[in-house]
Amino acid sequence: MTYKINVYKLWWDSNEDLYVGSTKSKLCYRAAQHRNCANNGKMTNVYVGIRKNGIGTMKYGLLESYEVSSRDEQLKYEREWQDKLKPSLNMYRALVTKKEKAIKLRECERKYTKNNQEKIKKYRDDNKEKAKIQGKKRSAKLKKMVNCYCKGKYNSGLKNTVKLHMLSKRHKKFFTSEKHQEFIKSIINYKYIKE
Ligand SMILES: [Zn+2]
Repeated sequence: MTYKINVYKLWWDSNEDLYVGSTKSKLCYRAAQHRNCANNGKMTNVYVGIRKNGIGTMKYGLLESYEVSSRDEQLKYEREWQDKLKPSLNMYRALVTKKEKAIKLRECERKYTKNNQEKIKKYRDDNKEKAKIQGKKRSAKLKKMVNCYCKGKYNSGLKNTVKLHMLSKRHKKFFTSEKHQEFIKSIINYKYIKE
């Protein structure tokens, strides 16, 4: 299935500003849409341009009509005209190839890196500091390792670890063993004798 599209231009007699678009609608409808959007304060280049040059003095005209079978095909024709006329009010080219997108993205990244070296450096340094602090916190916690009477170990800085250790087989076994009962008694006796 094909459909008809119109590639059109908007222009003013007062200056060189130009816009190239394409539409499935009649040109008068599309022009009315453009006027509405300009009146409603839309901020893309074309509408800023239409307001600046005068909504009432905007002219529109057909460049050429085509039969197309997809939106991509429509945009391809639109772009051919944009490449030919280099319209000042077209912010984006109608159909940007993937390769062009990739190049643009790389350019943007490079530009950003170049313009924000300080920011990026600061971010890296800040994160380094954060990592250092976290590392210190972690090692401080690890230093709180306690040797338990049961000959097990637990980290007194981590509540859950303490709990888990107290509930562990080794710990329970030790504290219910005869050896430990003797040990407890010896302490009690010791205290008793001391008093
Ligand atoms: Zn223990």
